[in-house]
Amino acid sequence: MVKSARVMKKAVAYLTPFMEEEKKLAAAAGQAVKPQGRIILATVKGDVHDIGKNIVGVVLACNNFEVVDMGVMVPCEKILEKAREIGADIIGLSGLITPSLDEMSHVAKEMERQGFKLPLLIGGATTSKAHTAVKIAPHYSQPVVHVLDASRAVPVTTSLLSTDGREAFVRRHQEEYDKLRARHSGEKAELISLDAARANAPQLRHEDLPTPEFTGIAQTSPSLEELVPYIDWSPFFHTWELRGVYPAILDHEKHGEQARHLFADAQKLLERVVGEKLLTPRAVYGIFPANRVGDSVEVYEDKERSKVAATFHFLRQQAAKNNGSPNWCLADLIAPRDASPTPDYLGAFACTAGAEVKELADKFKAAHDDYNAIMVEAIGDRLAEAFAEWLHQQVRREFGYGRGERLSAEQLIREEYRGIRPAPGYPACPDHTEKATLWELLNVEELTGIKLTESYAMWPGSSVSGLYFAHPDSKYFAVGKLGRDQVEDHARRKGITVAESERWLGPWLGY
Ligand code: SAH
Repeated sequence: MVKSARVMKKAVAYLTPFMEEEKKLAAAAGQAVKPQGRIILATVKGDVHDIGKNIVGVVLACNNFEVVDMGVMVPCEKILEKAREIGADIIGLSGLITPSLDEMSHVAKEMERQGFKLPLLIGGATTSKAHTAVKIAPHYSQPVVHVLDASRAVPVTTSLLSTDGREAFVRRHQEEYDKLRARHSGEKAELISLDAARANAPQLRHEDLPTPEFTGIAQTSPSLEELVPYIDWSPFFHTWELRGVYPAILDHEKHGEQARHLFADAQKLLERVVGEKLLTPRAVYGIFPANRVGDSVEVYEDKERSKVAATFHFLRQQAAKNNGSPNWCLADLIAPRDASPTPDYLGAFACTAGAEVKELADKFKAAHDDYNAIMVEAIGDRLAEAFAEWLHQQVRREFGYGRGERLSAEQLIREEYRGIRPAPGYPACPDHTEKATLWELLNVEELTGIKLTESYAMWPGSSVSGLYFAHPDSKYFAVGKLGRDQVEDHARRKGITVAESERWLGPWLGY
């Protein structure tokens, strides 16, 4: 891919501490410098998020690596085919959601099977050094290195491709990963049986039950202007690898200037996106009669609660608690179904900033403006999250428990309201496949255009989905590691095999 040095320079200006001065100068002068090596970057099959990968691509290109960015949802065969075709020196894989970890292991196995000799880089939100060492690296006999962020990509890549430094780097890397593996094999989370965990469920009262204004499905398409005040800007800076909290980050001693530049550029593009209505936000949501049945929640079509429209299957914490705290499961937040069911409700939603985000990014890319291509995706993500916050506020009113709420934008960002909106795939409900149930219940694809990939990632990427729990004691928690008994129970409840269940819950298996 040819990248305009000028545009890349702008993009990478925020990451310059990691660039070598002389190469910056050469790039600025437009001098041809012999590439340091060829790198393939790809977001793995089933996964759609690529901002981090794109930043890595720009930073590597600015440091004189030849980068072939294959985009998102790239199947293993395509990646390996391309690597052969161009004689790649390194392959870098990216992924955002947990099922991608499995896909990355698959790529590593295939590289081994096909006799590849290239180093493999692993990056993206759910990846970690420990996971790379324990679950991916053992499948491939060449270096498999976790790259935390774009700032680490250049030194790692440079070391791996240098003739003199490589050996020492690889040795150090192996030693570090051996240690991680040894530590991992020695530490097993102490889990209690599923029965014991259920016996230690929180004893919540279900009395202050809201009366929703409606039950069933509704749609909404607010204007972009309405969403802007709900934007949480801190994660925007994290995307650009500037850690800190907005607005304080604008005055940060070291990063303040970079942050101000980025913010000004973001405002400019946001104004254009809003002014020219370049995105079409769309959401579908619903409020349904619901009751808990074991660790699952049944959602009913009718007020009499006689016809089940959908069943969500949740997971329970199985960690041994020695401080007397309960073993949580999201189902605990909903009143149980018994002879005369308590009239409780569950909500659900899916919203997107608009499928146009990707088209806009592609247009910028075609014009060699990698900086704004990344920027528009970052803004799309911010608007999608802002939309989720906006929608949650509206739904709290319609649900009947948020009418008296008076919260500032900051209080909303801190989620200081009653209720939560956990997202399937996140720690309180780590099973991504529950999105399939949500999609069917709300007819999400038809009504909003948001699709699910084979790994249950949402397409377009600038989308958010989740469930609404109204209980005043609702809180986010992490289910954590699971025992085999719960995985078997999960498989039984979902009507899938234990092997399938293990595949989706891979990172959470505690045995
Ligand atoms: N203001 C942030 C909001 C995203 S992070 C932004 O603009 O990016 C917070 C959201 O992540 C929550 O609303 C919830 O949907 C999800 N979340 C956080 N922790 C979670 C957990 N433990 N389980 C499930 N979902 C969680």
